[in-house]
Amino acid sequence: MIAENFHQVMAEIEAAKARRTRVLKDAPVQLVAVTKNHDVAAMREAIDAGATDVGENRIQEAMGKYDVLDRDVTWHLIGHLQTNKAKYAVKYFSLIHSVDTPHLARALDKEAGKLGKVQDVLVQVNLAKEASKSGVYKEDLRPMLELVDSLPHLHLVGLMCIAPNYEDVEACRPLFHEMYEIFQKVKEIPLPASNIKYLSMGMTHDYRIAVEEGANIVRVGTAIFGPRQY
Ligand SMILES: *Cc1c(COP(=O)(O)O)cnc(C)c1O
Repeated sequence: MIAENFHQVMAEIEAAKARRTRVLKDAPVQLVAVTKNHDVAAMREAIDAGATDVGENRIQEAMGKYDVLDRDVTWHLIGHLQTNKAKYAVKYFSLIHSVDTPHLARALDKEAGKLGKVQDVLVQVNLAKEASKSGVYKEDLRPMLELVDSLPHLHLVGLMCIAPNYEDVEACRPLFHEMYEIFQKVKEIPLPASNIKYLSMGMTHDYRIAVEEGANIVRVGTAIFGPRQY
């Protein structure tokens, strides 16, 4: 089932790419299979079906799986990170999507430095200004990007956002549209140490629209693995 679902999501991404109007139709999209709350057996099924990238939102859970997974895969941290877990985040994850405060950025920089690593990160934007979500407001984005750019052990590679869980999924479209515009504008800001190339947006209910509007990383869990059991 997981393999079939994975192939289905990949096909949906290709179909959404073909519907793009403002973005090059063949510009690639990276699927991150969101494995939080799913076990290692489920992860292996997805990886054996072709998943190259997995996303986790809790450090503790990811660390437990990391040692037993026994597959080569790229790890993405997609959830809010507490500063006191920064040292684990830089150890386990290739890309951290959820850098949302100067305090966290500095902590990650320090811990990456201790490992002699330059950590790829995205800055999370709270475009809809939802109180329940973290992320930088668009008004505050530029100084945040300049800060991250200046930190020697962080490598800023783009932006991430989470759309509100609208009942009518089309309501996400203007947000994704605006996010893509912000992404394009950010590429114009002088950020000499950065490479603004990723726009991570879209989850199970809205990834098709996100791809149509210019996402090049989508984070999909439920459509691949089924509902999470808590
Ligand atoms: C859980 C999660 C996802 C995946 O959600 P689904 O609806 O299961 O696809 C994507 N992004 C973030 C930040 C998440 O926490």
